[in-house]
Amino acid sequence: MEWINDHTALLIVDVQNDFIPGGALAVTGGDRVVPIINELQKKFRHVIATQDFHPANHGSFASNHPGKLPGEFIELAGLTQILWPVHCVQSSRGADFHPDLNQSQWKAIFQKGKNPDVDSYSGFFDNARRGDTGLGDYLKSNGITRVFVCGLALDYCVKFTALDAKNFGFETILIADATRAVNLQPSDGEAAIKEMKAAGIKVLTSNEL
Ligand SMILES: [Zn+2]
Repeated sequence: MEWINDHTALLIVDVQNDFIPGGALAVTGGDRVVPIINELQKKFRHVIATQDFHPANHGSFASNHPGKLPGEFIELAGLTQILWPVHCVQSSRGADFHPDLNQSQWKAIFQKGKNPDVDSYSGFFDNARRGDTGLGDYLKSNGITRVFVCGLALDYCVKFTALDAKNFGFETILIADATRAVNLQPSDGEAAIKEMKAAGIKVLTSNEL
């Protein structure tokens, strides 16, 4: 089966310095996805990236809630919100894409997490589903029917982006070797893959494409 054609897109989720070892919210092995994604991009005509892009006063940052630490929970936008270290602050180096990530053929970048009052794991909608980045309509208006998802982190932004892609009606495929999990709990990555499969998302590795 030919997986990639003019109606397929590659979505690169949040491959930013703060999610790479050495960054504020480092994902173990996060840098390892960069060469894999660079190879993958060569096969696609439509490559789109998402970027976590928070104001400094973002409600998901533990430091904005006196007495709270990363990993603790609060309520934000009516939802249970895990608190994170300060990360991907607009115009900081941590918010920049990994310097080795090839951006030369990107058609668009969709930024998320700009509203301080709600977190935004998915590249499509914020967690309360009030704000829409426009990614879904963008893909539809470009004739995309099948979406491949890769990037960081598997158990948060990649998972929620893939689930929303599927909900939007796109055939959705996770590229399992082009993502890594935060794994706050050691099995979170595996659980994320299970949840995605249960939602009808396919899982492939880059060498199958
Ligand atoms: Zn964030």
